[in-house]
Amino acid sequence: MVGESKEILDDVFQKILTGKKIIVDPTVLNNDYIPNKLPYREKQIVSVGQSIALVLKGNKCSNLLLYGKTGTGKTVVARYVTEKLLERASNIKLIISYSNTRISNTGYRILLDLANSVDLKIPFTGLSIGEVLKRLSIHISQKKYFIILILDEIDYLVKTHGDDLLYDLTRINENLQPGFLSVIGISNDLNFKEFLNPRVLSSLSEEEIVFPPYTAIEIKSILQQRASIAFEKESISQGAINLCSALAGSEHGDARRAVDLLRIAAELAEREGANKLEENHIRLAVQRIEQDRINDALTSLPVQAKSVLFSILESNSNCTTGEVYDNYKIICKKIGIEILTQRRISSILSELDLLGIITASIVSHGRYGRTKKITNTVTPQIIKEVLKEDQVLSIIL
Ligand code: ADP
Ligand code: MG
Repeated sequence: MVGESKEILDDVFQKILTGKKIIVDPTVLNNDYIPNKLPYREKQIVSVGQSIALVLKGNKCSNLLLYGKTGTGKTVVARYVTEKLLERASNIKLIISYSNTRISNTGYRILLDLANSVDLKIPFTGLSIGEVLKRLSIHISQKKYFIILILDEIDYLVKTHGDDLLYDLTRINENLQPGFLSVIGISNDLNFKEFLNPRVLSSLSEEEIVFPPYTAIEIKSILQQRASIAFEKESISQGAINLCSALAGSEHGDARRAVDLLRIAAELAEREGANKLEENHIRLAVQRIEQDRINDALTSLPVQAKSVLFSILESNSNCTTGEVYDNYKIICKKIGIEILTQRRISSILSELDLLGIITASIVSHGRYGRTKKITNTVTPQIIKEVLKEDQVLSIIL
């Protein structure tokens, strides 16, 4: 047995050693890599550039809002243009501060990011937002800093915490003299403006720039360009690039999905010691991403929803809501959680449907009324693996 394991492992090592190196520079495949060329975004680059260029003359620039669906190049354009501005701004003390509000997901954390970028020490907790803002404005004025604050995925902040912080940030200039702070807000959600108070909206959206989805052809050329820097010559087949672009372009032109697919496929290909990244690696990458997505969705479900899901596994395929509910009650008793009404279970089933974990289709029985037929769309084995990890459910699994 020992011998066999060693041989298997030797084989793994050998494959890596003798396998061709296909990735030249793995960082190129990361989503935060900034390419030198950003085709199809000339208009947006010029607009952002014109708007923030006033800084070079020592003037405050407008606040900006960049809009567009995921993967339309908003983040990369904002970072590219501000980086170039920084290179030109030798005459002023320009600071580019970046915060993603999905990651720095409270007002306090966002201000911490800002404080970090201007080398101001703020304790991790304990101060009021007002106090942090006060210290920031004193510091910025003293240093005569010109600040461009990029707030990425700003829709997330607004939907979870409202727009108080944005209000404060757009007002901060009243206390800054000299120095200023301008905001570039980036949103994936086109409707997020509805969540803003009119005063915040008018000040934040002094200028707006829209990022339309890429076409399939554009995605393909973006990928081709990225692949030519990331991979050794002839290490990726044209078929793989075509498939990858077709997959990423099919719903809405999402360059992020395209780059993610390329990165994961490349890792899979290198790990198996392949000489070339081929279409089958892209297909495997699709599965891997889907699996990760499902795992994430399942893991974060509340225990009631997990119990409903387990009830579905315990029922026949194509079961009715009634059957699921009967099994659900038994499971609740076994694990000792509250039994919710059938109506609540029905709405949990709709949520699971929305997440793509099950499909609930309505079947009509003529004058006997209508029922929902439930089928799970995810392999039961995958669901069970995740449910086993749950503290409460693990008792019966
Ligand atoms: P968004 O912020 O709109 O979701 P990103 O700016 O993160 O999209 O872009 C997603 C990925 O696609 C990144 O890896 C980025 O480098 C790449 N990308 C987007 N637009 C272009 C472009 N015009 N040229 C080259 N790469 C691009
Ligand atoms: Mg982005």
